Amino acid sequence: MGLPHVIGLIFSMRNATQATPEKIARIREKRFRRLLRTAVAKSPFYRDLYRGIDVETCQLTDLPVVNKTTMMANFDDFVTDRRLKRSEISQWIEDKSHIGQMYLGKYIAFQTSGTTGEMAVVIYNRWALDFVHATMISRHAHQKFTVPESIRLILRALFFKRFGITAVFMAGGYYPAYSVAAYPPPFYQLFVKDKIHSLLEPISELVEKLNASSCNELYSYPTMLDVLAREQLAGRLKLKLEQPLATIVSASEPLTEKTKRLVQEAWGMQIQDTYGSSECFTMARSCNKFERMHVMSDLCCLEIVDRKGRPVPDGQKGDKVLLTNLFNLTQPFIRYEISDVTGYSTQPCSCGQPFPTLISVEGRTDDIFYIDRPGGGYEAVDPDFFFSLIMKLAQIREYQLAQTGRNEFEFYYAPVTQGAEVENKVRKVFEEGLRKSGLFDRVTLKTLCLETIPRDQRSGKMRQFISRVGPPPDLDDELLNQR
Ligand SMILES: [Zn+2]
Repeated sequence: MGLPHVIGLIFSMRNATQATPEKIARIREKRFRRLLRTAVAKSPFYRDLYRGIDVETCQLTDLPVVNKTTMMANFDDFVTDRRLKRSEISQWIEDKSHIGQMYLGKYIAFQTSGTTGEMAVVIYNRWALDFVHATMISRHAHQKFTVPESIRLILRALFFKRFGITAVFMAGGYYPAYSVAAYPPPFYQLFVKDKIHSLLEPISELVEKLNASSCNELYSYPTMLDVLAREQLAGRLKLKLEQPLATIVSASEPLTEKTKRLVQEAWGMQIQDTYGSSECFTMARSCNKFERMHVMSDLCCLEIVDRKGRPVPDGQKGDKVLLTNLFNLTQPFIRYEISDVTGYSTQPCSCGQPFPTLISVEGRTDDIFYIDRPGGGYEAVDPDFFFSLIMKLAQIREYQLAQTGRNEFEFYYAPVTQGAEVENKVRKVFEEGLRKSGLFDRVTLKTLCLETIPRDQRSGKMRQFISRVGPPPDLDDELLNQR
């Protein structure tokens, strides 16, 4: 526990990135058995669920699937410490003054909204959170530094200048990413100077604060990175990412090609993408090639399944993921269903890591817009079409484009400075774009100027392209699968 545990993990996890797939399989097997033994020994829920199953010899696929509803309904029996009670933890979380304190002296608890809106209470102990913190260093995009380089970096941070991390996300409450930051490993402040900003702050104030500071690493949700990149390109934001280890990390939401392109343009660097959920923060991360994310298969098992729970072959997207978190022994998530859409790639990555990679999940957040086609049927309009128009509008800070009816759209935007000039420009750009693409007579598009785009108050997230009507119910299955 404590600092030696984190340091030990950093080294072993860093070594794992250079190990063989067989070695990773051995590490996974060891952690898997430890998890199962703990679950049946200490969780009445799992003891009951696994009755008749030999946890020393069974395969992962022999075990029944669990989901959030079952987990929450049986929370007190699900966890492996009988002192943990759902009602008491929820009460503790309500009081924000508890942030930074350990629950019962040893636990970190937080609440998640999830994509389906169903709340979950998640609990880690210090030991499990050490894995999460160690991942950030050992699986950093620039993790391939040598031992002398590591020593130089440590001495630099200790005696010259601390490593600067600037994060913009939902802050000040028991939000997952903030909770990880609010419980740093011991002596962390000696090496790292972090600054956490709330993404609910007005953009102009946020830009001002970011301009007054410097950092090596910028960490945020992709939708916010998108906003910041636009600010940087417009010259209002002057954020310089310093060496060594200058990095931009995207978390919590799927990263789109659009955001990647914008960030590349704004800072001349690629984004390290990460994939995690509150139930397991460390599911996948992109490597120094920045092409695809590697599943951290020494820390978790991700099974890709279809709607009916059947395994999906590599190279194809599934409908759900069954997650097994191999290091959270307090709340064992074993074959736990999460509603993410992803799949394993069949393409090897040139970085040489032993971990499998995921196929790009582009299209997961950005809804495709299906509109009526004259003469019957539907036509798919890619959000990229609207994005190409929005790129011409440097006068706006943030935006959201919503499909509100089959052939109806609304564009909400927050301008840098209010005025009829901006409004006219927005209307003009859309009108020209729609005319050029032949959509002008077929769709209606309302533009609405707002002070700020409202975000989900619970998650702080905002989707830039959203279809409120979804795909038509009679849309061909085949067409859907092409997405
Ligand atoms: Zn790679």
